[in-house]
Amino acid sequence: MFNLFKFIRLGGRTKVRFPPSPTGPFHIGSARTALFNYIFARQSNGKLIFRSEDTDKERSTKEFEEDILDGLDWLGIKYDEFYRQSERTEIYKKYIKKLLREKKAFYCNHTKEELEEEKNKQMANKEAPRHICEHKHEIRNSKFENKGIIRIKGTNEKIKFNDMVRGGIEFEGNTIGDVSIAKNLDTPLYNFAVVVDDWKMKITHVIRGEDGIPNTPKQILIQKALGAKPPKYAHIPLILGSDKSKLSKRHGATSINEYKRVGYLPEALVNFMVLLGWNPGDNKEIISIKELIKIFSLSKVQKGGAVFNIEKLNWFNKEYIKTKNTKKLTTEVIQYLNTEQKKLAENNSEKWEKIVELEKERLTTLSDINKNVDFIFKLPPYQATSLVWKKDTRENTQEHLDKLIGLLSKAKSSSFSKENIKKAVWEYAEKEGRGNVLWPLRVSLTGLEKSPEPFAVAEILGKEECLKRLNYAKEILSK
Ligand code: GLU
Repeated sequence: MFNLFKFIRLGGRTKVRFPPSPTGPFHIGSARTALFNYIFARQSNGKLIFRSEDTDKERSTKEFEEDILDGLDWLGIKYDEFYRQSERTEIYKKYIKKLLREKKAFYCNHTKEELEEEKNKQMANKEAPRHICEHKHEIRNSKFENKGIIRIKGTNEKIKFNDMVRGGIEFEGNTIGDVSIAKNLDTPLYNFAVVVDDWKMKITHVIRGEDGIPNTPKQILIQKALGAKPPKYAHIPLILGSDKSKLSKRHGATSINEYKRVGYLPEALVNFMVLLGWNPGDNKEIISIKELIKIFSLSKVQKGGAVFNIEKLNWFNKEYIKTKNTKKLTTEVIQYLNTEQKKLAENNSEKWEKIVELEKERLTTLSDINKNVDFIFKLPPYQATSLVWKKDTRENTQEHLDKLIGLLSKAKSSSFSKENIKKAVWEYAEKEGRGNVLWPLRVSLTGLEKSPEPFAVAEILGKEECLKRLNYAKEILSK
């Protein structure tokens, strides 16, 4: 609900942004940043803007932008405003001109080669690459006027900011140098476009990955030159692979689309991602997005890197699948089926729903459904010895199978339900030992040592198929 007091205290509406560069598929690290921003916006009744930072014309593509937007949509991360930097050149130009007019910015007449050489020297001396330009005081030569990269004047003073996650951070101004803001009037550079946008879009909080920290002092200098009100900063920890290096493809899938493709549920991924770098302070792990919006707090975000653990994600996914409404799950898993399975799902939705109900507990990802239900369509080959329960004998197992065939033959096809099947065999199973009887029943029906309980499987297979499989089991056991 809208809270007027909070609104006034915060000095207006919270506005955050998710500004990906569409130069690659939607990365899980980027998705987590988007999620933190989304939750933060929602909990303060604020706004989230989407900004495509597509000024790098060579590396940005519409396809990657689409991929990011699809991913956001799938995860349920909604934004309130949409911008594309490539459509805002005139705005940046206006402010570059203004800074030049006010002599806060200047053309640096050094050639590319000179700058490159300086940078290499600094790197060799293990210094931060920077350029402190003598041209800001005078134009080297009139023929260089309006040529070269455009910079704003740096500072010798400390540049400080207070980070909501990491506390006070400061940089020596002379390690930053004169910050480049544009290649020319029509080609703003990254830091400049970001500052103009954050300012003009009235961004109140910049929540981004820790790798954005080195850009922050440069952005603060640009804000000062423009007279822009600085946003608050929160730099969130990076996601690391199991070897503690930055999460990359060699650690496994990193793109959101890939997770979608193999059948992770968006709600599981959201829950998993939010716990990468944040925790509610107790041991609670399954937390819905609604709850997250209530309890999330930037002040509880950790400083250290967050290790990505696929086992944990799998655990979340399993939990979410287990509790998902079977009807909904039934429609969602269809896309993962092979042609024969799909045909059944489409022609006999009732039976298909029963199969999903049965398998629900055993799915790690939705695409597991395909191999998990295979035994229903075709009995997989198995060893006769698999039919025998622990200490029981082959002979006894033969007898149990005989008895089971007898009992199930008597059951009516029309009421071949799991309850009735259980009733039919239960007394015998109790008498002979449950394992001795139910184990061979289950293995005969599924061919698998690990499978769902036999009564439900029997119901799905139907009387005729059950008897066929039991007779087959008897046959291979007698060989
Ligand atoms: N476009 C930048 C990126 O994708 C955004 C950094 C920021 O949030 O300022 O890394």
